[in-house]
Parts: sequence; C-alpha cells; structure tokens
Amino acid sequence: MDDNQTIHQNPVLNQKDNDFKDDFRIAERVKHGATMADMAREIEPLAQTPLEALDLLKNGNARFYSNRSTRPMLSAVERRAQVVAQTPFATILGCADSRVPTETIFDCGSGELFIIRVAGNAISGNVLASIEYAIQHLKSHLVVIMGHEGCGAVKAAMMPEEERNKEPENVQRLLNKIVPAVCNIPPIRDYKARMREAVIANVREQVHALKQNEVTMAAVAREQIMVVGAYYEISSGAVDFLETEEELRVN
Ligand SMILES: [Zn+2]
Repeated sequence: MDDNQTIHQNPVLNQKDNDFKDDFRIAERVKHGATMADMAREIEPLAQTPLEALDLLKNGNARFYSNRSTRPMLSAVERRAQVVAQTPFATILGCADSRVPTETIFDCGSGELFIIRVAGNAISGNVLASIEYAIQHLKSHLVVIMGHEGCGAVKAAMMPEEERNKEPENVQRLLNKIVPAVCNIPPIRDYKARMREAVIANVREQVHALKQNEVTMAAVAREQIMVVGAYYEISSGAVDFLETEEELRVN
C-alpha cells in the first residue's frame, strides 16, 4: 500500500485481512520513528468542503431510512489513530431525546461527527463554546442544528406560562430559549403539522442565534463552514434539511 494514502481513502480498511496488513504497516512506520501523532495526521476528514459534508449526511441518512445502514465499525488501526486526534466532518446540535441517536440517523461511525445534544437543541453558553471549539480546532465543515418530530422540549415551551412556571428553575431557563420561536405559531389545526411547524420555527431561531456568534460568522465569511437546519422525522427516519436563506428565515 502506498504510504501517502490516507487511512480513510483505503477502500478495504474494514476487511479483517487488511486490518492486519495496516497494523503491520503502522508497526513498521513506528519502528522507523513515526509517532502516533504522525499517524493521526494521516486521517483526513471525509469532506473537504461544506457541500461535501452535507452530501455525506444526506447519503448516510438515505442509507438509514431505507434500511441499508452499513453501521461502520472501526478497525483496530482507525481506533488507535483516533487516540491522538479527531477529524469530524460535521458538527451537529441535536436534541437529547433518546429517539434521536445522531450517528445512527446519519449512518456514521466514531470520529465522523462532533455532536452536542441538549433538550430542544437550543443555543446557550456551553453549546456555543462546543461549536466554537469545533470550528476553531477541528476540521469539520458544516454545522447542523437539528430538531425532531414529537420534541417534548418544544411542546413544553408551547404550554401556557403558568404551566411552565411549575417546572424546576433550570428547565424554565432552557424553555425560555425556545419560547420566542414558538409563541406565535400560526393556528394550524392539524396537531402533527402544528408541532412540525413549531419544531422548525425553533430550528430557524437557533440557527439565527448561532449566526450572531462572532466565531461562527467569521467561519461562514471565509467559507470554512455552512450553517444549516434540519428536521428529523422519527416515524420515517428521514431528515429534511433547511439550507437556503428563505428556508431558514425567522418568522
Ligand atoms: Zn426533543
């Protein structure tokens, strides 16, 4: 195998026989002075641009919802190289809901996605810090804020204020980050459609909040990243992306 070939570009990496060959290759490299840090540098992110990253997510989700997931397993070589560095191609802010397992939804493996999960996928100080870290220090090219069907946090934020005030203080604080997005939802009679509208309105609001962040703005301006929204439908397994200005426009 060509020494210059990066680990991700090896099309047969997941085959056991080749794992042993790669292990041997790494052992040889280390014997000749390469450190694990040198090896880790060989792991290139799967995507080099925001659009490539978005395509990877779309393709991964298509495999998931059509029951063709490959559920990528790491070879011993990949796992060892990951000890020193990570190169996730996308950063995803999703909900803490147990039915929204992000890697599974996008058919991704360890080291591929930088994931932050918090109820209602709302922007706050620590969430921003994590996203800033991903932008400044990791090689990911895309930030996705993803809401989902049947979100309990969004539903709670739509309750009357006197009901919300019965919640513990920290829960109220989190709900207050969602309330402005959902308090003026049009009176859609169909409950499912109304909830979808509310979840997407919250995604738009959180994307808008993230785009006010200086580190994010600078990364968008130099075309390092793109910020998009997404809606995950639990029942079908499909993710709809909100990419254009019009799709992301806050009501
Ligand atoms: Zn949720």
